[in-house]
Amino acid sequence: MAYKVDPAKCIACHTCIGACPVMAISTGADQKAVIDPAKCISCGTCAAICPVNAIAPDLGPTPNPVSEPKSNDTKTPTTPDLGPTPNPVSEPKSNDTETPTAPDQK
Ligand code: SF4
Ligand code: SF4
Repeated sequence: MAYKVDPAKCIACHTCIGACPVMAISTGADQKAVIDPAKCISCGTCAAICPVNAIAPDLGPTPNPVSEPKSNDTKTPTTPDLGPTPNPVSEPKSNDTETPTAPDQK
């Protein structure tokens, strides 16, 4: 993924050109910066240094990003007020597990 200059934002200050470690940025016909995607190593230096935030990762023509927010239907169905919860039917019973002692048989 290379970075891309937004020509609508670029003010042709050329700060990014000197900052690119692989010299992937040059000037276009209008003196605005142009990034060569074949050279760009996506280090992000130019995007960080651009004074007008004209550089951003080139995400391609994909119109629908994967992390598109979904509309959450937060409507909760109304439930009738049943009052306090009665004791559950399957309440555990205390089992008397003591084994009576058998008489001593001789
Ligand atoms: S630093 Fe930003 S405004 Fe300056 S030339 Fe590069 S992209 Fe254009
Ligand atoms: S992201 Fe890094 S390698 Fe790519 S154009 Fe910007 S400074 Fe150069």
